[in-house]
Amino acid sequence: MIKRVALIGLGTMGPGIAARLSRGGLEVKAYDVSQGAVDRARGTLDAAEGVLDRLDIRAPPSGAGGVHFVSTIAEAVDGVELVIENVPENIDIKAEAYREIDPLIAPSVIVATDTSGIPITKLQAHISHPERMVGMHWSNPPHIIPMIEVIGGEKTSAATVVAIRDLIRSIGLLPVVVKKDVPGFVENRVLYALLREAVDLVERGVIEPEDLDTCVSWGIGYKIAVIGPMALLDMAGLDIYKSVSSFLNADLSKRDDVAPVVLEKNAASKFGIKSGEGMFSYTPERIKALQGERAHKLVAVRRILEGRE
Ligand code: NAD
Repeated sequence: MIKRVALIGLGTMGPGIAARLSRGGLEVKAYDVSQGAVDRARGTLDAAEGVLDRLDIRAPPSGAGGVHFVSTIAEAVDGVELVIENVPENIDIKAEAYREIDPLIAPSVIVATDTSGIPITKLQAHISHPERMVGMHWSNPPHIIPMIEVIGGEKTSAATVVAIRDLIRSIGLLPVVVKKDVPGFVENRVLYALLREAVDLVERGVIEPEDLDTCVSWGIGYKIAVIGPMALLDMAGLDIYKSVSSFLNADLSKRDDVAPVVLEKNAASKFGIKSGEGMFSYTPERIKALQGERAHKLVAVRRILEGRE
């Protein structure tokens, strides 16, 4: 039974994950190497708690749950049944974190990684008892999006996959088991297929960036939240899909490198919201407004999709 969790890495994803696990009644010990990250995480944790209130995700009975910030990795993993590694998407940084954690935990402790797409088989080469390592891929913002991918590597035991799947279910979230350890898993493979085509269409001047977003959000996105791609195929008809894909697939982008427009923006340090400019431009006021507006809309849409309004 998993009751206590160590969360290692409190950047973009950590605080939302901590808040959601705590609401599920788990005791979370949260750790980051950077004191600045811990200070920021305290603020984002409060904001995530506010969003969870708006989603009516009730606090657990008194005495259960809670997020405790700790100052060493040893304190974080002491007495836990699960470690969730949430450090940057870099195999060397992750391997270094496992080297620190490994001697401090018993073989029975499950080690989950929130990697967005590094194969679990590669990561589990850096930890002893690799059967207890599993992918637990949250979607950003993790306190709002209920779906979590669960991925076993070549050496992950079936029991580890089941334990994490059941834990996710037990706190009211939606586990999706990915049966093969493919790079990017499923969510990011589908997203990156869409992004490759979207970037290509903008780059080739087929459409303006704003119009691309309107087309995808109101055409595909709005619909796909209700009718998933497999169900959509049945709704459209497999005969229609056969006929359109017979000529359209050959015309879709197949580039296997990074698109020039993305390289140019990177070379000019235009990374998006974090630098004030990317595909669009942002003032600090606009960024603050967008963050509030997006959280508000995601909460409203989720309440409707769950039939709560
Ligand atoms: P981030 O860079 O925002 O935060 C990572 C944190 O880990 C930093 O605060 C850093 O100080 C800390 N850290 C580094 N080494 C550490 C160590 N040895 N011990 C403790 N803390 C350490 O990263 P992020 O965006 O939160 O992503 C974390 C993981 O989640 C990555 O694997 C990423 O691919 C995955 N992920 C990210 C997103 C996203 O949208 N950002 C979505 C899903 C999954």
